[in-house]
Order: sequence, then C-alpha cells, then structure tokens
Amino acid sequence: MTMQSGPVYDFIVCGSGASGGVVASQLAENPDVQVLLIEAGGDERVTQVNDSRVWMQNIGSERDWQFSSEPCAALNGRTPPLPMGKVLGGGSSVNGLIWARGHRNDFESWAKAADDPDWSYESVLNVYKRIENWDGPSDHARRGIDGPFYLTHPKNPNPVALALRDAAAELGISAAEDLNGEAMEGSGACGIPNVPVKGDSERVSVATAYIRPRMAQPNLTVILNTCVEQVILQGNKATGVRIRQNGQATEVTARHEIILSLGAINTPKVLMLSGIGDAELLSTLNIDLVQHLPGVGRNFQDHILVAGCCWEYPKPQAPRNNSAEFTFFAKSDPTLLTPDLQPVLEECAFGSEITRPQFQLPVDPSLAWTLAPGLVRPHSRGQVFLTGNRFKDPVRVEANFLSDERDVKALLKGIALCREIGNSAPLRPFVKRELMPGQLTDADMLNFLRNSAGTYFHQTCTAKMGTDKLSVVDGRLRVYGIEGLRIADGSIMPEITTGNTMAPCVMIGQRAADILKRDNGLN
Ligand SMILES: Cc1cc2nc3c(=O)[nH]c(=O)nc-3n(C[C@H](O)[C@H](O)[C@H](O)COP(=O)(O)OP(=O)(O)OC[C@H]3O[C@@H](n4cnc5c(N)ncnc54)[C@H](O)[C@@H]3O)c2cc1C
Repeated sequence: MTMQSGPVYDFIVCGSGASGGVVASQLAENPDVQVLLIEAGGDERVTQVNDSRVWMQNIGSERDWQFSSEPCAALNGRTPPLPMGKVLGGGSSVNGLIWARGHRNDFESWAKAADDPDWSYESVLNVYKRIENWDGPSDHARRGIDGPFYLTHPKNPNPVALALRDAAAELGISAAEDLNGEAMEGSGACGIPNVPVKGDSERVSVATAYIRPRMAQPNLTVILNTCVEQVILQGNKATGVRIRQNGQATEVTARHEIILSLGAINTPKVLMLSGIGDAELLSTLNIDLVQHLPGVGRNFQDHILVAGCCWEYPKPQAPRNNSAEFTFFAKSDPTLLTPDLQPVLEECAFGSEITRPQFQLPVDPSLAWTLAPGLVRPHSRGQVFLTGNRFKDPVRVEANFLSDERDVKALLKGIALCREIGNSAPLRPFVKRELMPGQLTDADMLNFLRNSAGTYFHQTCTAKMGTDKLSVVDGRLRVYGIEGLRIADGSIMPEITTGNTMAPCVMIGQRAADILKRDNGLN
C-alpha cells in the first residue's frame, strides 16, 4: 500500500490513553505513514502527573473526566464517582501505577470469545514481553527487558507493606517475588506490585514511553484539547471524524482507518452519536441508525473496591512511593478457577463519603493505613447510555455495583480476609487500633459494605470483542458492519482482567498496532 502525506491522514487515532497512545506511536514507526492522534485533554508535563507519589491529586482535577454512576441500589443509592484520565497518556498519566498483566485464564477466555488464538495467554505473553523493560528478578519465559515501558519494584517500600506480605503468606497466600511472573498463572499470590517509576518518583506513562519520543517526527501529528465528537460515515464506511477545538467544529479525513481509543465510557458514546448502537435506543434520541449493534455501551464492568479496612498506626508513618505498595490475589471460594479478590494497601485512612465521618477517620495520611478489599472477577454488569444526540450532552452510566449477589458474598469474604490479615501478629507493630469496620453483626457488616463499595478505576468492556450478538468488534478489532473503523481500548475486553487494567490496555494497543500494520500491508 502507498501511504500519502499531506492534510489527509492515513490513520486517525482518537484518544491518547493507555491503548491509543501505543497505537499511534507504533503506526508512526513507519515514516511513510501519516498519523493523527487526537486528545481531549492537555499536556501531561505537570507535577501531579510526573510525581508518582501524588497521583491521587489528579482525581477531580481538569485531568479527570469526572464521570459518576447513577444511584446504585445495592450501594444504598450512592452515586460513586468514576474517574478517568483526560490528558496526554490518558489513565496511564494519572493512575495509581500498579502494573498487573492479568491471569492466564483471562486471555484463554478472550481467545475463546473472539474465536482467535492470537488473544490466548501464550500469544499475549509475547506481546507483553515486547512492551516491557522489566528491571526486576529475571524470568526470560515471561518478562521482557528491551521494550519501551520501564517497570520495577518500588524502592524502599513502607514496612507495613512488607509486614502485610508476611501476614498474608502465613495465611497460605504465597509470597511472590514478581506478581507478573508465574503468580499470574496460579491460584493466588501476594507481594509488592510492579510499578512504572524511574528513579525515586518519576512516572513512566504511555505519554513518556510511547508518544513523546515520536512527537518530533513529521509523520505524527498530536493535537491536544480537541474533542472527537462523531465518526463520519459514508454509507457503512468510516471516512473521518468530526472534532471540536476551541469551540469550533471541523472534520478530518482518514485515508485508511480510524481507531477509537476513547476509553470505556466515551468510546461507546461516540459510537452511538455516530449511529452505531442499539436501534431502539438511538431512535429515541433521533439519531439516524447506521449499524444496529445492541452491545454498544452494554456489558460495563469495573472491579469493585471497598474503602476500608483501616488501622491506626501507633506512631505516624508517612506514605511512600505510590502509597499502594502491597497487593494480593486470592479466591473467595476455593472452587473458583481464578482468584477473584485483589485487596490493595492504601497508605492513608481510605473511607467513603459515608464512612469517613461515621468512623471519624483521620485526614493526615501518616496516621493510618488501609487494606482495601477489591473484587476482580465481578458478576455485576452496567451500561453506558446517551442522554442526548450531541457530544456535550452528558452520558448516563449505570455502574450497578454489587447488583449481583455473588459479588456481595465475595466481598464480605474479602473484608473478613483483610481484617484477619490486618489484625494478625506480623502487623502488631503497625497497629494501635482497628479504625474500621471492627467486629460488626452480619447486618451491620453488609451495610458497611454497601456504604463503602465503589470503583477500582477500571471501567471496561462496553464494546466487547466476540462473536455473539452483543459483540461490537471481532478478534481483529473491526467494528461489525463498518469498514475502516476499529476500537482499541479497555472497551473491547469481553470480560475484565484479573488485576489492574492499564497493562492489558497497553497490550491491546500494541496488538491493535500489529493488526493494523498487517492488514494494511505495512510490515
Ligand atoms: C485514578 C485512577 C487510578 C488508576 N489506577 C490504576 C493502577 O494503579 N493500575 C492500573 O493498571 N490501572 C489503573 N487505572 C486504570 C487505567 O489507567 C485504565 O484502565 C487505562 O488507562 C484505560 O486505558 P484506555 O486506553 O481504555 O483509556 P484511557 O487511558 O482512559 O484513555 C482514553 C483517552 O481518550 C481521551 N478521550 C476520551 N474521549 C475523548 C474525545 N471525545 N475526544 C478526544 N479524546 C478523548 C481521554 O482524555 C484519554 O486520554 C486507574 C485509573 C484512574 C482514573
């Protein structure tokens, strides 16, 4: 194929996040390919992004889309916030920096859903190895050391993290030197997570590892503070996108393909605004139907994180590194094939809007620590809806957290397990008293769970890859029924992975770039 230069781009990548930034950078590797990368957020070179220790300060800032869920009945009607990155690098620029690749079984099930062995564990392991520059215990079979994405263990972790590892190991959750090694093929493990941090605190993101190194190339155009509002379709062929910059709407044209990488809320939003979605839902908003795909916006999944359990330190201990230096994977029920719980250390008293005042949690992070129960194989499903037919009309997200009783049961087990670990002997040097929840009746513990559960920041699965009637893309990430349009971001996951979702999204971006290159004869 001959690529053309000039005002028409060969590929337009919409969204510069964990997936989209990788797609654009990898396509631009070939100097003959003209790539346009469009990002609604701004420059990521600010302290709150660069300094991995203060990542929480991005939440609620201009670098966060500030979505929130509709009232969740099973959370006592609460409306949990659903932060998502809005800046060059997307979530990879604002997130908590835990790198977790997902369990072997996740990818085996994706390969089955897509009917495509290229998504199997063996296959994605090779993709991960090309991405990673792993500076940790060597594992040639599983870890890459030559890729662009630097990963290591946090330096000099908080002693409470090491005590938690000892305590979890005493309960039979084996301590792994590398949580992304063999640990991700078994029944569970605990340890110090991998983090993309250089030196003491410098965040490595998709922006710094993939986009910035190519920004001076004439064949990669990156535009910031510009919103993609709609895909332009001629018949069933995607030919360009409508964008808004400084209030002005314009159109840009793609000679070959358009890739939507807007994240699991805005990707289905832009699809629906473009006439791709459930025919009935679109007709109620007077959107002309181009392609009936009833799965668009459905199958919303997020891990569910419980704010708590908290303990007070006997003497203040300042947070270190990314304030989340310990995690573990365990099964809430031994008959499960894959671990479903992933609690995480938060180096502060982490409570919800209800429990913070109720339990009088201290604000100073050095006074307390939290082992927050997390559910990483949720059964609850949500949906993203439009509220109007213009981009500026907000989306309605029904997260439906804990709507499936199995999730309630698993998280009650998770709370019990975290309390057992936190109150065990290895933690005694770090405990003055348990702040929350303490010993409660079953009914009160259930109420504590409903008042404390919310997002793990891992919104995914709303334009799923697969072959059933709710699938939106096939194994090659092509939108069904539309020519020249692919999706590459967390929305394509058929099921959310077992672990934090940045790493799988980077892998999806790399897979998408490989597929695009192959299908467009660019190799
Ligand atoms: C506060 C927080 C903490 C997190 N902690 C962790 C963690 O510790 N470990 C981990 O693995 N994961 C974590 N995550 C999740 C992880 O960052 C995401 O799963 C991942 O970034 C999703 O990748 P994505 O490519 O699907 O979307 P994103 O990375 O969200 O990228 C989407 C991009 O598209 C842009 N965009 C959206 N709409 C438009 C539009 N209309 N026009 C133009 N651009 C648009 C966005 O601004 C964004 O830059 C966290 C996320 C948050 C928000």
